[in-house]
Amino acid sequence: MRKTCVLSAILLLLLFVSCNGKSKNNMETDNKNEVPYEVQSGKVIPADKYLVGEDTLYVTLVGHGSVMLEYKGQIIHIDPYSAVADYSELPKADLILLTHEHRDHLDMEALKLVEKEDALTSLMLSQSCYDILKYGEVLKNGDIASWNGIGIDVVPAYNIKHALPDGKPYHPKGRGNGYVLKFGKPGFVVYIAGDTENIPEMDVLKGKVDIAFLPQNLPYTMDANMFVDAALKVQPKYLYTYHAKEGEMIQSKRIDNNGIEHLIRPMSNKK
Ligand SMILES: [Zn+2]
Repeated sequence: MRKTCVLSAILLLLLFVSCNGKSKNNMETDNKNEVPYEVQSGKVIPADKYLVGEDTLYVTLVGHGSVMLEYKGQIIHIDPYSAVADYSELPKADLILLTHEHRDHLDMEALKLVEKEDALTSLMLSQSCYDILKYGEVLKNGDIASWNGIGIDVVPAYNIKHALPDGKPYHPKGRGNGYVLKFGKPGFVVYIAGDTENIPEMDVLKGKVDIAFLPQNLPYTMDANMFVDAALKVQPKYLYTYHAKEGEMIQSKRIDNNGIEHLIRPMSNKK
């Protein structure tokens, strides 16, 4: 009997030590198991995880200008675009944000697939998108909104230099939106720049952004030099190149040397 007790004590001790070790090494996995909902990100397209207080923000670059975020069981799709992924395989949206009306950002096919039935999905969009869709909450540059405890600052996204042959910019000032999303307290900040160049309005974001998505492609958004300049203007902790062509995404020591972790992900996840 005594032997059994000693053996049990040793077994318990071993169990305690091994569990302790596991929770240290796999903290995120353990956290994930404790949340009262099933995490939907990462099943079809790999997701990056960021700790926001005691919660986890899951970040998926779906491809091109399309991003999916998951926070506290809520799914946010930004500019879902069916050319870069099969949206029937991705989770439906609790919130959709649209930056502007171009077809790679406002895509009816993708919207149909991510919207829940009975208008259960919230939609926030630019006036130019509303003019086409005729539903949703219009947000304009400078607006400060919120959705389910997530702060949404609406910032400009436009061309200074790149223009159509008739001289009109691809993205005129005031038409498109960028979004600064604030999760938790004191606020984990995600900046979705939209189709923009390295505009002066980015300066106010300097050092305040945890994750930034910045576009790099011609003729619509930024060339490589503009991209590096924008990255240094915003100086996020993590930087994703998006709205870019595969193989053309610049990586620069000027970015890396500024303490920015620059992440390059596939621009399409279409099988
Ligand atoms: Zn675009």
